Amino acid sequence: MTSPALSLRGIEKSFGVFKALGPVDLDLMQGERLGIIGPNGAGKTTLINCITGVLRPDQGSVQFMGKDISNVPPFERARMGISRSFQIPRPFIGMSVLENLLVPLDYKPAVHNKEARALQLLESVNLHQRAYDPSGDLSQLELRKLELARALASDPKVLIADEAMAGLSDTEIDEVLDILMRLNASGVAIIMIEHIMHAVMRFSQRVVCFDTGLLIAAGTADEIANNTTVQKVYFGE
Ligand code: ADP
Repeated sequence: MTSPALSLRGIEKSFGVFKALGPVDLDLMQGERLGIIGPNGAGKTTLINCITGVLRPDQGSVQFMGKDISNVPPFERARMGISRSFQIPRPFIGMSVLENLLVPLDYKPAVHNKEARALQLLESVNLHQRAYDPSGDLSQLELRKLELARALASDPKVLIADEAMAGLSDTEIDEVLDILMRLNASGVAIIMIEHIMHAVMRFSQRVVCFDTGLLIAAGTADEIANNTTVQKVYFGE
């Protein structure tokens, strides 16, 4: 039995009088692959923002590797090992691919050879061939890879992949899934938030479904695909 990397207890968040989230209890085990699904407005982004510290929950606590981080600011959570890759990558266009990674690595005083580390990160996402090209030349798939490499620069224990595959072709999705599986095999727990159902179902050891701010179902991909409450949320049936 592994212990949780993340432990959320009683998380609630409202915007004005509108309750966007909760109460939510959720654990992410160390090294786990967890999928989060749910229709637009279900509260997925709000939940992620409570994990990364961008939002402060009104109620509840967030623990990371056994430590209460409820009062820890976002940059510190990132440094502790919670990393998020964004859906829409925004590279520093005037810089090369490699230089884009030197920026986050600047915050890692323990990394002595930053260029070697940047190349290693690029290799982990199959982007090393493009290291010295301008980041403005990258394709959509390559941009996603650069975004993943950037999220990995902090050596995360938890990686939150937020719609990392939106807009990609099936072969490209397969490649991103392979990369994420490899990262996971190296010990990184991954939360995948994804609308591409076959991808999140294939990837995740456990899937949780949100609707109207609440966790309405949890189980294996098969269990979730056959769950009548989940089907109702997606198909109104
Ligand atoms: P999801 O990521 O599942 O699409 P969100 O977490 O973005 O859902 O949103 C949950 C609900 O909270 C939505 O109804 C959304 O309109 C509302 N919401 C999210 N952020 C804010 C905000 N900053 N101010 C007001 N309402 C918000």
